[in-house]
Amino acid sequence: MFDQLNETVHFTKNWQQQLAEAFNNIEDLCHYLQLSSEQLPTSVNAVKSFPIKVPVSFAASIEKGNPNDPLLRQVLPIKDELTIYPDFSDDPVGDLPSSTHTGVLHKYHGRVLFINTGICAINCRYCFRRNFPYADSQLSKQHENAGIQYLNEHTEVSEVILSGGDPLLLNDERLKNLIQKLNTVKHLKRIRIHTRLPIVLPARITEKLITSLTESTQQVVIVVHCNHANEINTRVINALALLRSSGINLFNQSVLLKGVNEHANILCDLSEKLFSNGVIPYYLHLLDKATGTGHFEVPETIAVELIKQMQLTLPGYLVPKLVKELAGALSKQTVL
Ligand SMILES: *Cc1c(COP(=O)(O)O)cnc(C)c1O
Ligand code: SF4
Repeated sequence: MFDQLNETVHFTKNWQQQLAEAFNNIEDLCHYLQLSSEQLPTSVNAVKSFPIKVPVSFAASIEKGNPNDPLLRQVLPIKDELTIYPDFSDDPVGDLPSSTHTGVLHKYHGRVLFINTGICAINCRYCFRRNFPYADSQLSKQHENAGIQYLNEHTEVSEVILSGGDPLLLNDERLKNLIQKLNTVKHLKRIRIHTRLPIVLPARITEKLITSLTESTQQVVIVVHCNHANEINTRVINALALLRSSGINLFNQSVLLKGVNEHANILCDLSEKLFSNGVIPYYLHLLDKATGTGHFEVPETIAVELIKQMQLTLPGYLVPKLVKELAGALSKQTVL
């Protein structure tokens, strides 16, 4: 049982072991957080459509005994997920029609997105991919060469985005191999990695990983995903420092989420804490309208007000761009 969970011991384990020990049921998580599941509107049916998965490193930053904790709300399956909202659907960003090869998404000029794996280290309840048929569309090892060939045939592409799922869940060898293959594509300038692992499973950021990234002949850019300053604990700070000290540019994207970060002071604290750890705020996304996520929605008018309040408080470079995704559009839509 998790009352025997020894955090000090847990955090000395390697990332694969920590991942294997992530919370995967409501009872264990609630017990660890000193919450009774009766206090909470949890839902077993919500788990059936999208499993619960919470690494201990992330759970350790949730305030014990607080049913309204902003980190808990991101990961706890609740009854609200079963509510039907009229304009919410299973593929709100139109990813399925634009999938050219299996696991390759080419929607925007000059940038191609590889879905390297369908899995993540954490299951965020608001995720737009929660209903995405991963098994059919991930870039399996066999399809990797087809992806590379696609890049070779499209000389207008200057950046490949490794995404998922979480691309840093690939093991070191496979990642190194993939980077080496990408390095053979001469017109490619950058490899961008979209990952939440530095935030939710910071043990993943090892010297070995850093070596694979710094050996790349193309520039490596990492975009992390963090929604609240409380997610940035000492383990995360160390992981970000390791990445920064190797010269990798770090950006952050957040999702605007009701009950998590829909206040200007929360967003300002997040920007400040990111920047003090070498991460530049990039995007604040309006929620993609995926089935099961309607209770997280913050209206666009309120989002605009929040950004305006941030502009009155912070230097311009700490105010993220407010964006939304429009199915079929040629870029993200800047709202403000
Ligand atoms: C978001 C996204 C990108 C990257 O867009 P940027 O505005 O460059 O960050 C590229 N391809 C797809 C399919 C995307 O969804
Ligand atoms: S880490 Fe990103 S892709 Fe994975 S569940 Fe969370 S929001 Fe979705």
